[in-house]
Amino acid sequence: MNINEQMQRLGEERSVIREIFEYGNARKREVGAENVFDFSLGNPSVPAPDAVNEEIVRLVRTMPSVQLHGYTSAAGAPEVREAVAAYLRTAFAAPVSASKVYMTCGAAASLTIALTAMCEAGDEFIVVAPYFPEYRVFIERAGGKVVEVPAAEHFHLDPEAIGRAVGARTKAVILNSPNNPTGVVYGREELARLAALLRQKREGRDAPVYLIADEPYRELTYGAEVPCLLTLYPHTVLCYSFSKSLSLAGERIGYIAVSDDCADADALFAAVCGAGRALGYVCAPALFQRVAAACLGRSGDIAAYRANRDLLWGALKAYGFTCIPPEGAFYLFVRAPEPDAKAFCERAKKYELLLVPSDSFGLKGYVRISYCVAKETIERALSAFRKLANDYGLCERQ
Ligand code: PLP
Repeated sequence: MNINEQMQRLGEERSVIREIFEYGNARKREVGAENVFDFSLGNPSVPAPDAVNEEIVRLVRTMPSVQLHGYTSAAGAPEVREAVAAYLRTAFAAPVSASKVYMTCGAAASLTIALTAMCEAGDEFIVVAPYFPEYRVFIERAGGKVVEVPAAEHFHLDPEAIGRAVGARTKAVILNSPNNPTGVVYGREELARLAALLRQKREGRDAPVYLIADEPYRELTYGAEVPCLLTLYPHTVLCYSFSKSLSLAGERIGYIAVSDDCADADALFAAVCGAGRALGYVCAPALFQRVAAACLGRSGDIAAYRANRDLLWGALKAYGFTCIPPEGAFYLFVRAPEPDAKAFCERAKKYELLLVPSDSFGLKGYVRISYCVAKETIERALSAFRKLANDYGLCERQ
C-alpha cells in the first residue's frame, strides 16, 4: 500500500453525521424538501448578525484589495490579535495578551493545531463522554490516545472521575461547554472543583495537565452563565470559533488563545505557530479575521434557537420522550426508547425524521437532534415525532 491507511479509512468511513445529511439530501430530491425533517447537522439556521455584512461591505469599500485579501502574519493580522486579546481581557478579565492569540480556520483548526502543538506520541487526552466525535480523529492524528470519562448525572462533569483518569501521560483535558451533543452548560462550581483537582495533580509532575476549552457555542446560551476557563485555571488553551455564534460556519474563522499564566506559555505558543505551519494553514482567512474582530461577543438571533428549543423539547416531553432541557448550543440529547439507538434512528427514518445515534459520541442509547432548523420544520415534524412515540407506546405511558 503506497498511501496512508489511516487517512484512507477516515476518508472512506465519513462521519456518521455527514452520512445522514447526505441521505437526507437524496431523500429530499425523492419526496420533496418540505417532507424531510433533517435534524442531523449543526449548521446555524439564523442569519449572521447585520454587523457581519456591514463590516464586509465597509472593508471591501475602504481597504485596498491587495491589503485586504493578501496574506496576514501566520498568527493573524496584528490589529485582529490585539482586538481579540482586548475583548477577552475586558469581557472576562482573562489573562491573554495579543502575543498569545493565533487566528485559525474555525474550531476544528483550533483543536488540531492545539493538539498537534501539545502532543508527543502516546500522550493521553481526556474527553468527557458523550463528546464531539471529531475529537477522536484529531487526537489520534496528532499521535495521542483518547481517554473517555463518562459524564455525571444529567451530563454534567464528574471532576473526581476526571481526576482519577489523570495519569503520568495525561497531557490535557478537553472541555466543551455549552456542550455538543447534550446542550449542557458546565457550572462554576463543577469547573472550580475540576480546576482544584488538576492543580493538585501538578505536584510531582514536570508539567501541568492542560485544559483545552473548546467553545464554539459560548454565546449560544439561554440564560446560563458560561464561566471563562481562562480565569479558573492557569494552564488553559481556549479554542474558539465564530462558526456558530456569527453563523459563519462555511467561512472558517476562529482563534486559539493561550493563557499568559499557562506553564511554558511562550514555548506552547511557539508550538502552536509551528503546528499551524506544519499543518499548512499559512494564515486564517484575511477578510474574515477582520470581520470577526469587529463582531467579538456578538451572535445571531438566539431567541430563534430558544423558541425552537422550547417548542421541540416541550413536545417531545409531552409525547413521552426523555431528555434534559438544554441550556445552550442547539442540540437536544434524547434517550432512545430501545437500547439500540441506531435501530431507533432507522425507525425514525420511516417518518422522514433524521436523527443522529449517540454511538459515535462515545455513549450508547441516545440520539442527538440539532434544532438549528427553520421553526416551520419543527412544527411540521411534530406529528412525525408523535407517530414515532406511538410506535413505542410512549404516549400511553404518560
Ligand atoms: N467543537 C465542537 C464541540 C463542535 O460542535 C464543532 C462543530 O460542530 C467544532 C468543534 C468545529 O467547529 P468549526 O466549524 O468552527 O470548525
